[in-house]
Amino acid sequence: MRVAIFSDVHANLEALEAVLTDAHKRKCTHFVCLGDVVGYNANPHECVERIREMDCPIVKGNHDEQASLSESSTDFNELAERAIEWTRGNLTEQDKEWLRSLRLQQQVRGFTIVHATLDTPAQWGYVFNNLDAAASFTYQHTTVCFFGHTHVPMVFIRDDNGVRQERTEHLRIEMTKKYFINTGSVGQPRDGNWRAAYCVYDIDNHIVEQLRAKYDLATAQKKIIKAGLPQLLAERLAIGR
Ligand code: ZN
Repeated sequence: MRVAIFSDVHANLEALEAVLTDAHKRKCTHFVCLGDVVGYNANPHECVERIREMDCPIVKGNHDEQASLSESSTDFNELAERAIEWTRGNLTEQDKEWLRSLRLQQQVRGFTIVHATLDTPAQWGYVFNNLDAAASFTYQHTTVCFFGHTHVPMVFIRDDNGVRQERTEHLRIEMTKKYFINTGSVGQPRDGNWRAAYCVYDIDNHIVEQLRAKYDLATAQKKIIKAGLPQLLAERLAIGR
């Protein structure tokens, strides 16, 4: 079974469609979403609708949480806050209800999914180093856990020697180790590569691939400008930051 796992779509419909098309071409039959469906880009309602219709396992992200509230309960930076206010005004009540109903973590076919971390999923900490990953591993009871939130594809591996980090596009899963895998972001990558990021997990062959899909960047950018969202949100897509 081949499962496509994707995160941080952030209302970028062009990037989402490109990833889904790419995953179908790569013979994926199942899909899993790691949250942050909305925020930053111009198609929150369309992305919610598309993913809701897929009826796939999904967990909640911090932007999903904030967009489904009537006002912000945490401090976002100015850019994120402007986008989240705009997003609230462009979601239906039904969209918000669906976002509100999402769980923080769950198990899917023997692996775990969470948006930020397993140790404190509701506090939305960022896992960028081995120490942060070690805290999450303490609560990881499956060999593999996928996460998002940082928008940077990354693999943390825990074995008898401790926790280490790897940046590999082709990972073989060994049952004696544990893996905390960031799929990167579909709709706003921040690793210097503008292409939409996601993972394919080949469960039977124990392989995780980190993949990139080109999408119609110009259209996504035009929509951001037309919506009156900050221009910087369009510019950053092109440089992957
Ligand atoms: Zn995000």
